[in-house]
Amino acid sequence: MVEMLASYVAGQWYTAPDEGTLVLDASTSEPVARVSTTGLDTRAMVDHARRAGGPALRRLTFQQRAAALKELATYLDANKATYHELSLATGATRRDGTGDIDGGIGTTFVFSSRAKRELPDGYVLTDGDVEPIGKGGTFVGQHVYTSLPGVALQINAFNFPVWGMLEKLAPAVLADVPSIVKPATQTAYLTAAVIRDIIASGALPEGAVQFVCGGVGDLLDHLGGEDVIAFTGSASTAAVLRANHAVTARAARFNAETDSLNCSILGPDATVGTPEFDLYVKEVSREITTKAGQRCTCIRRALVPESMVDEVTAGLRARLDKVVVGNPRNETVTMGALVSLHQRDEVRDAVTALMRATEVVYGDPMSVNPVDADPERGAFMAPVVLLATGDRPEPHEVEAFGPVTTLIPYSAPADLGALAARGGGSLVGSILSHDPDFVRAVVAGAAPYHGRLLILDRDCAAGSTGHGTPMPQLVHGGPGRAGGGEELGGMRAVKHFMQHTALEGSPAVIAALGGGS
Ligand code: NAP
Repeated sequence: MVEMLASYVAGQWYTAPDEGTLVLDASTSEPVARVSTTGLDTRAMVDHARRAGGPALRRLTFQQRAAALKELATYLDANKATYHELSLATGATRRDGTGDIDGGIGTTFVFSSRAKRELPDGYVLTDGDVEPIGKGGTFVGQHVYTSLPGVALQINAFNFPVWGMLEKLAPAVLADVPSIVKPATQTAYLTAAVIRDIIASGALPEGAVQFVCGGVGDLLDHLGGEDVIAFTGSASTAAVLRANHAVTARAARFNAETDSLNCSILGPDATVGTPEFDLYVKEVSREITTKAGQRCTCIRRALVPESMVDEVTAGLRARLDKVVVGNPRNETVTMGALVSLHQRDEVRDAVTALMRATEVVYGDPMSVNPVDADPERGAFMAPVVLLATGDRPEPHEVEAFGPVTTLIPYSAPADLGALAARGGGSLVGSILSHDPDFVRAVVAGAAPYHGRLLILDRDCAAGSTGHGTPMPQLVHGGPGRAGGGEELGGMRAVKHFMQHTALEGSPAVIAALGGGS
């Protein structure tokens, strides 16, 4: 029988006694690991975080925490070859694995260096200037951020087992909040390998990180107002967690990053032969093939001028014809598998639902010929491009979390803001145009529905990190359907794990408490 993955609980590794859930290789269906939390003592975890991890972290200044993060990132970087091998079992190509693994480690380095530059060598962060309140200047106010005495429960999605953990862990460490990391079962073996190294590195004090490998059981029963639940995953799971008493009755802080029907808009000026047209076709095809389209930021709705649908379809066809689907261990493969057969079936079901409002203009959702793999035992799917055939809701509401996008023709640029908004709130949108008036009008309509907007043109293309890649310096999150949360964004992310308090008093006292400490 394959290895049962251990959880890390109150300074000890805990292995569940039952058979647990078997996790299979995405491309071959060979067993990789077993996952279970039967018998896990969640109370002990929360107590350990509060009594050991939190106090140990709070003895460190921001500068010392930044140094600890750098040590951690350096250690993980030296051990990453193991993670890359494991990542192949998730269906990810080596290139996909780089985004997850090197992207996660790089994010940790960025948080460390930004903290070193921007945070004080103390324990309290001031926010804004001292506010004069009383007449005569004897009474003032000052906003500060202080460390929470609680715990950050981090629940992650299957698609970024490394980056998804590290992008939450780094700001939590800087904020001095101990973390309990809970990965998605399907790819938990990769997160587990990194967690083992985090513990072995000794970079963080004992209790700063614990690990739940499997279901969280009654863990939320122990959380309240001093705690944070940082969730990434589907909107339906977010809704379940948001309705938990930990949030509704005890006001645990809840941040959700959920699914999103992200759009990419081709401007009417970006006709065939312009750099923006080529960039658009490249961006859409790259989005749906990277991680086999399993990125929350993937372009699901490609909004194109009615008159350019045929050209865009032809451009995508030319690019997607070169995609080699198969076992990511084969060097010729450019798009790997979905994470599991179950996930592939979910995506096929979503395509079936979308087909009520679309027709397939590229690819076959039900059939694929993967390289070096059995299509029955691996979760493979060909890239699929759909074309909306009328004005129905499905393309704006149904997320096919795989290599799938829908072309949605538009006739009036003035309608684009409203069209973008039909996604109900998105993580990211992009506008491909070199016409500043067009861009200005679209941004005004679309920005309130987006956490991030990429305006891609010939001038910034060479330096652009692309539509689908959240950067640690910029906000990741989105309103409405995208969860209403916010992560990353430089040192803003640290504040999400801290308490915001207005201090009031005499100028001398306020300066001594908040200023520069
Ligand atoms: P999911 O089924 O919602 O699972 C997400 C996480 O929640 C997993 O760790 C899962 O654990 C856990 N979970 C499920 N039910 C739970 C419960 N009742 N209590 C506590 N934890 C629970 O989502 P997924 O299938 O892993 O991820 C795919 C979805 O996530 C897509 O819709 C995608 O758009 C979205 N996503 C969003 C972002 C973003 O940044 N906004 C990033 C990535 C993915 P188990 O695996 O053990 O069930």
